[in-house]
Amino acid sequence: MLRQIGFIGLGIMGSGMAKNLVKAGYPLNVYNRSLEKAEGLEKIGAFVAKSPKEVSARSGAIITMLSDSPAVENVILGDNGVLEGIRKGSVIVDCSTISPRVSVKIANEAEKKGVEMLDAPVAGSKRQAEEGTLIFLVGGKKQVYEDNMQILKAMGKNSFYIGQNGMGSYMKLVMNMINAINLQALAEALVFGMKAGIDPDLMVEIINSTGARSGGSEAKGKSMIKGNYETAFALKLMCKDMNLVREETRNLDVPTPTTSIVNELYTMAKVKGKSDLDYSVIMEVMKEMAGISQKQ
Ligand code: NAP
Repeated sequence: MLRQIGFIGLGIMGSGMAKNLVKAGYPLNVYNRSLEKAEGLEKIGAFVAKSPKEVSARSGAIITMLSDSPAVENVILGDNGVLEGIRKGSVIVDCSTISPRVSVKIANEAEKKGVEMLDAPVAGSKRQAEEGTLIFLVGGKKQVYEDNMQILKAMGKNSFYIGQNGMGSYMKLVMNMINAINLQALAEALVFGMKAGIDPDLMVEIINSTGARSGGSEAKGKSMIKGNYETAFALKLMCKDMNLVREETRNLDVPTPTTSIVNELYTMAKVKGKSDLDYSVIMEVMKEMAGISQKQ
């Protein structure tokens, strides 16, 4: 009999991940702040709890997939939170992208209750969450990681053990620094090519068949030239991650000239009211700066 799993945070990523746990046969207890997002999970057999506390009281492993550090602190450490209901010997696996120092703080609070914690943020987006092909970047005790690998396998195709608590969160920030810069570079170059008069479809095809390609160009190049920014990863979440990068690189005295400029450009897009769109909407800011309209 597989152990009961709890899942908290059924947003773009969490809903796909939770469905894959049900498909793998785990009895699942879910909670989402806005109740309606739990309906799909209830239909396929998950129990919908009324609070994070109720989830943890029913589960031996509790997975969280929430927006940001304050949300994770609130859900795990707050009133009616995970630590209020949890049993000694349980494990918390936080897959959200949050501050590495908050990951360590939560692990320390969990330890006081005899509970282990892994920070296990993910590489991959909405499609990989739905298909069960995410990659987990794990911080915490190695034995705890190994003991819980089966759960990660139900949601992903691979996982890497990075080191002690907080190290998974650091690794995720390293990756999102690159993703943010890559997409800005792509947007800037596409706008240049469009203004010069290159056929946009041909341009993306050539980029994706040469060394100029990136994960971003392959996943989002075609939609960016069409002006389609349907959200897979919201701009506001990328801004959150760039702010975490700024905090942590300042702490470690690491100069980040390119990341800093890119952070300003994403902030401009956010100020223009594009927070909830996909972060590839940075393309619109670049088009506006270059004075070109959608049709060019
Ligand atoms: P999302 O769709 O916005 O979902 C966020 C979830 O957090 C929702 O369930 C939301 O509940 C919940 N939440 C937010 N604040 C809360 C609070 N104070 N208390 C309780 N619940 C709260 O975001 P997502 O795209 O799934 O991303 C989730 C995490 O994964 C983020 O840390 C993100 O950076 C990371 N990530 C995302 C991607 C991606 O491509 N989308 C890829 C890798 C990593 P409501 O439904 O009630 O708002």
